[in-house]
Amino acid sequence: MEVKSNKLYHPQMHSAEHILNQTMVRMFNHGRSFSNHIEKKKSKCDYHFSRNLTQAEIEQIELKVNEVIKQDLIVSEEFYLKDEANTKFNLSKLPDDSGDKIRIIKIGDYDACPCSGLHVSRTKEIETFKFISTDYNEGVLRIRFKLIDE
Ligand SMILES: [Zn+2]
Repeated sequence: MEVKSNKLYHPQMHSAEHILNQTMVRMFNHGRSFSNHIEKKKSKCDYHFSRNLTQAEIEQIELKVNEVIKQDLIVSEEFYLKDEANTKFNLSKLPDDSGDKIRIIKIGDYDACPCSGLHVSRTKEIETFKFISTDYNEGVLRIRFKLIDE
């Protein structure tokens, strides 16, 4: 759970980040982004990775993220006691002082992860996800993306 102030102000972008992360996890069996910067106009997510993405992978990720968005999944929150949450979710990013109750954000059946930020209530509010660019440098894959109203 990252408590970054910019996550509080752009629920669409931030919710898109959850879906992107889950899509990356499913496609590459890698961890979620370890660092990110979420802004209204464009956002970036960094992943520990071994190479840049191919154009085909970029298209595949875009397609998948938009497919999830178009399903208009309900975004919901659930609270778990820390011990229970530990058995179900990866809590390694949680700060030590996060308390006994863990808030899990679920995007339909697609994604579930601990988070304290603000989210849309249904995925269609996100509109359309678009890559801006990717680059790769010393073990870090950076994805830049934006949301467009199509
Ligand atoms: Zn979140």
